[in-house]
Amino acid sequence: MIAIYPGSFDPITLGHFDIITRGSKLYDRVIVVVSRNPTKNPLFTVEQRIAQIKKTTHHLTNVEIDSFDGLTVTYAEARQAKVLLRGLRVLSDFEKELQMAHTNKTLSDEIETVFLATSTEYGFLSSSLVKEIAKFGGPINHLVPQHVALDIEKCYGKSHS
Ligand code: ADP
Repeated sequence: MIAIYPGSFDPITLGHFDIITRGSKLYDRVIVVVSRNPTKNPLFTVEQRIAQIKKTTHHLTNVEIDSFDGLTVTYAEARQAKVLLRGLRVLSDFEKELQMAHTNKTLSDEIETVFLATSTEYGFLSSSLVKEIAKFGGPINHLVPQHVALDIEKCYGKSHS
């Protein structure tokens, strides 16, 4: 069974990576789909984000990276994916994620949203939090892959411990 894991990934964090790794053990193939929808003001281009995710997941042979700028369910149908994988951290995620899952169900009855609970150590972690810390020169090496920390460092022109 194919699952897609859609998101902004601006940039990928260890929390995303944890969901991808666990998803890759549950499904035959996991396609990580970087959203091209320009609703947010991203730090990294879609191409940079794809490169970051590829580098992070290169050892996971059943994980593929792609991008898409339409409805997630349209992409899922085109790739014959039956599952939309999402991660749940805190209660505030739940409200937004449930609404999205219900919406997607009205768009395609064949596709199921499956939630993976965050691993306890990443429950607080988000891409925006990492950027916020980095902006003020704080350490981020424990929150994102090493090469991503270096990319962020280049953006903010600061060194991290
Ligand atoms: P989006 O803009 O679609 O929310 P994100 O890149 O912020 O994109 O997140 C993609 C998915 O990964 C979402 O389902 C989000 O809840 C999940 N996620 C993000 N950070 C974590 C984390 N630390 N642990 C578990 N899931 C996470």
